[in-house]
Amino acid sequence: MNETSLDSQAFIDLEDRYSAHNYHPLGVILSRAEGIWVWDVEGNKYLDFLAAYSAVNQGHNHPRIVEALKGQIENLSLTSRAFRNDRFGPFCKKLSELSGYDKVLMMNTGAEAVETAIKAARKWGYQKKGLAADKARIIVFDGNFHGRTTTIVSFSNDPEARDGYGPYTPGFDILPYGDLAAVEKAFDPNVVAILVEPIQGEAGVVTPPADFLPGLRSLCDQHKALLICDEIQAGLGRSGDLFAHRLFGVRADAVTIGKALSGGMYPVSAFLADDAVMDVFTPGTHGSTYGGNPVACAVADAALDVLVEEDLCKRSAELGTWFRQELIGMNSAKVKEVRGAGLWIGLELESSAGGARKYCEALKNEGMLCKETHVHTIRFAPPLVVQKSELEWALERIRKVLA
Ligand SMILES: *Cc1c(COP(=O)(O)O)cnc(C)c1O
Repeated sequence: MNETSLDSQAFIDLEDRYSAHNYHPLGVILSRAEGIWVWDVEGNKYLDFLAAYSAVNQGHNHPRIVEALKGQIENLSLTSRAFRNDRFGPFCKKLSELSGYDKVLMMNTGAEAVETAIKAARKWGYQKKGLAADKARIIVFDGNFHGRTTTIVSFSNDPEARDGYGPYTPGFDILPYGDLAAVEKAFDPNVVAILVEPIQGEAGVVTPPADFLPGLRSLCDQHKALLICDEIQAGLGRSGDLFAHRLFGVRADAVTIGKALSGGMYPVSAFLADDAVMDVFTPGTHGSTYGGNPVACAVADAALDVLVEEDLCKRSAELGTWFRQELIGMNSAKVKEVRGAGLWIGLELESSAGGARKYCEALKNEGMLCKETHVHTIRFAPPLVVQKSELEWALERIRKVLA
């Protein structure tokens, strides 16, 4: 630390003064990271138990992804899709083969991938189901989080995310998550798709009943609608599989991914589908200046290699099962429920415990960074490269704070 460096409070003051107040972050100012660890400007070290909402599944600054980014950025960074680049085709092939979907449509942020899914579903409804113009409906669920665009917040039922942003985009039916009977009742020929998080992340790592996804699958088959799974947070190893919906034994017609697709290095997202859906897009009908750029492709290519070669799905499944059992075994009177899949755990506190935020603050003082989701739930989602011994270290601290 030299004399001119600012302490945490000075950085917080700068943010307060010059940034929009659209977040409520913990009061920690990070300046460095490696693997599962992050350091603040005062030199304190923390285990990152949020992993940037699962964007950093591969661990911070993974050397292989850093190398891919540096190498590409020095060579060719952006062509726009007006021209072709030599990273795009090979990456789309890799992602198609790994995911099992015919084709890939690359975007940048998660919300853009979801917007792409909505456009694809609607156009598919008009072209392939012959719906009358502007009649398409999409079924979504209570507690959903699919991003922050005006269309996406139109079908959020979180007042914070939605209020004040109308007029809202029509064409969405919000049904209770997990309620198959409600979905069955809501179906009519104008329903083109069900858009669902196979496990709801922002809602607090909420897992649906075991028959929910299979039930949605058969309703979609019965009524000729698309099952679209938003795997932006749940996917790419977080839930212990490449896609969380696979844990329920179904195959979605289309998938959105983002976050860990780039290992935290760069915004990269994608919409995945088979030809019968993807061919609704023709030149000029959808796109993005940065979508599929060479840096995004190089970074995501390396991020997928890390996911596969370091067997992160299996690590997540095995360590997650063990870690969840340990949390349940704490038998803390403050804990109402421990749920999740893989290394993706929602620990819901009893309302008498007084809200999750203060426990996140206490865990921070113990060297662990976690974030509350809604009022009563703490989400545990470390980078998937975490070692068992490091999770044991974390458990000691969690036991102490929740004692
Ligand atoms: C984070 C998230 C998004 C939005 O991604 P952004 O990159 O923030 O736009 C969409 N869906 C789910 C399930 C998410 O967790």
